[in-house]
Amino acid sequence: MNFVIDPPDRPAVAVKGGGAFPVRRIFCIGRNYADHVREMGGDPKSSPPVFFTKPADAVVADGAEIAFAQATTNLHFEGELVVALAGGGKDIASEDDAAALIYGYAAGCDLTRRDHQARAKQAGAPWDTAKGFDQSAPVGAIAPIDAAALGAARLQTRINGDLRQDAPLDQMIWSIPEIIIALSRQFELKAGDLIFTGTPEGVGPLSPGDAAEVAIGDDLQVRFQIS
Ligand code: MN
Repeated sequence: MNFVIDPPDRPAVAVKGGGAFPVRRIFCIGRNYADHVREMGGDPKSSPPVFFTKPADAVVADGAEIAFAQATTNLHFEGELVVALAGGGKDIASEDDAAALIYGYAAGCDLTRRDHQARAKQAGAPWDTAKGFDQSAPVGAIAPIDAAALGAARLQTRINGDLRQDAPLDQMIWSIPEIIIALSRQFELKAGDLIFTGTPEGVGPLSPGDAAEVAIGDDLQVRFQIS
């Protein structure tokens, strides 16, 4: 194709064992661990799934140095399990069909401008500047494993070595197949999509100089440093 400017780079995430996973879209679910819903002042039983997105080029590789986000005084970490899709569809009918679309899993961090999010919630305004900013999606190498290999792994977030989030994945309100089905009722999912599956309680602020690590079980981890 005769592009009139140089086409932008294709965002990608490394795969354990070699290769790279090209990123098409990043979907995220909010309010998916009961204790985190409570810490944010909500009622987990009355909250339907909340979806938002980040641009594909918000992904940041494992080990990166990330500039403290512009235009915020309250940059928060949210450690999350990330699902990578090898296929897609609309109105996916069953949990088995949804599970069959999964390529693998990674540890990620849904970086959030909490001050923007609080203002957006109050004003009924969009979450784009709270969630979809530059470098807001650190994602570690994707492990092409199946759900059974994850088992009841714990998600643990450490900031400067201090354990700040620690929860088993089975505390999710909406399971991964349920998330995929619900998303497919809103969007046509496709190979290359990443889904951030929500964060447990313990979110908090980051400062310049902080070293963050999200680890899930023995296989998945992402580390980054705020500069
Ligand atoms: Mn999140």
